[in-house]
Order: sequence, then C-alpha cells, then structure tokens
Amino acid sequence: MWLIFVSPFIIAGVDRTKLRQSATFALQSVNQLVWPAVCSNCRESICESDKSLCKDCWGELLACTGGDYCPRCGRDASRYGLVEGVCPDCQGKEIHFDRIARSGVYKKEQTLPKMILAFKKGRTELDSMLGFLANSALDGSSFCNDIEFFVPVPLHWSRRLWRGYNQSLVLAKKLKHRTAKICTDLVRIRRTKSQPMMPSPAARIANVAGAFAVRRRHIFTGRNICLVDDIKTTGATLNECAKTLKEAGASKVFALVLAVAGQKPA
Ligand SMILES: [Zn+2]
Ligand SMILES: [Zn+2]
Repeated sequence: MWLIFVSPFIIAGVDRTKLRQSATFALQSVNQLVWPAVCSNCRESICESDKSLCKDCWGELLACTGGDYCPRCGRDASRYGLVEGVCPDCQGKEIHFDRIARSGVYKKEQTLPKMILAFKKGRTELDSMLGFLANSALDGSSFCNDIEFFVPVPLHWSRRLWRGYNQSLVLAKKLKHRTAKICTDLVRIRRTKSQPMMPSPAARIANVAGAFAVRRRHIFTGRNICLVDDIKTTGATLNECAKTLKEAGASKVFALVLAVAGQKPA
C-alpha cells in the first residue's frame, strides 16, 4: 500500500534527476562547442572536467610545489635540519615576520613562476588557480587560525595606476578564511625601484627602507596580521612591511607568498 503511494514520487524523482543530468550534459556540450575550455596557462584545449589546467601544466605545477621548507624564511629545508625551528640561514638574522607559508618555489622557466609573471602582466584570470595554491599553503600553515587580517603588500599609487591593479590584493581576495578580513591600511609612501634590478641583497634592503607607512586610523595595534605577496626573493620587502606593522603595534606578523626564490642549487 505504502509502496503504491510512494512509487510515483520515486519514479518522478528519478526522472527529474535524469532529466537534469541530460540537460547539464547537453548544456556542457554546447558550451564546449561555443566556448571550448582551454588551459589557463598554455591555452591548449582541455575537457571541462580538467579544472583549468591541462595535464602537462598540472604536472609541471606540482613539480614547483610541495616539499619541506623553513617556516621562517620559506627556503627549502628538511624539517630534520631545523635548529630551534629555523634553518641555518636564518640563525642570527633580523627577520621581522614571525613565520611564512609558501605555495612553491621560484625557479626560472618553470610553470609556477611563469603563471605568477603572467598574473602580474595583466592575466588576472589566473587568480583562481593561484588563489587555490595560496589557500592550500594557508591551510597547511601553522598560523592559519591565528590570522585576524590579511594585508596585501602595497604598490606605490603610481605603479598601481600604471598596472591597473595590485596583484597581491587580487590574490588576497581569493583567500578563504573563516574570520580574517582584508585590510589595506599599510601603504607604500615612496616609489621604489624594481627589486629584481637591485645588484645585491644590501641594495634591496636600502631600496625599500622607509618605503612603507600605516594609515593614521589603522587597526593593527595588538592584531595578528598576515602579509600577502606573490614572490619572496631576499625577503627585504616583506621584512620592511613587517617592521612597519610591528612598529605600529601589530602583535604577530606572518607572511603568505606564492613562491620563494633564492633556493640553493641542488
Ligand atoms: Zn597547459
Ligand atoms: Zn630559514
């Protein structure tokens, strides 16, 4: 009796599900025909189900990510080679940020750096893929739950005007966090030369010295901040930002970057 009463609903339910599946499939086919899916890195055609990248690019991207690293400077380091939680390179150095998380390493001609450079040169549609990598690094970090504000490393207003966007802010907007908000109260008050043009680590430090400041009514006092940037090379920029935030009263300053350069040759 009950079966007779319920069966039309089951049949109707199955039919509706099948109908929905067929409609979705048809829509995907039309979509694929009109707007064929392409790899967001190399523009090769891919299946809808390939999630933005072709198999080759996924493979190359994975080769740039993963691996143990020093939680203070982000460079490759075996977890067994850390002394008091940091690598030998960090011993005795004045590093103003407390810990760092990275998605991968920056090695020339590899997929991750190529994607980051393209992202900086206008291909902002890569934000989803790079955001995915940044979120994975964030989830794997030891400080994710301590963050109260994400602070993108600021560009000078003239550079932002020229580029049209701040890539660190675009990236920060892709971060998924239960409570932390984005704050742009850290500003670059001096136009600095491009860091890659600097001939030495000392020149990089001098180039960004005093280049940052906080807005008058900032919210940093007593807060745990996570700086967001695309690439860390010597760390001079992140260090100067962290120093400025600590001087403004920030409690802890962490850093999240897509890639860390300056690895020792294997
Ligand atoms: Zn590809
Ligand atoms: Zn280190």
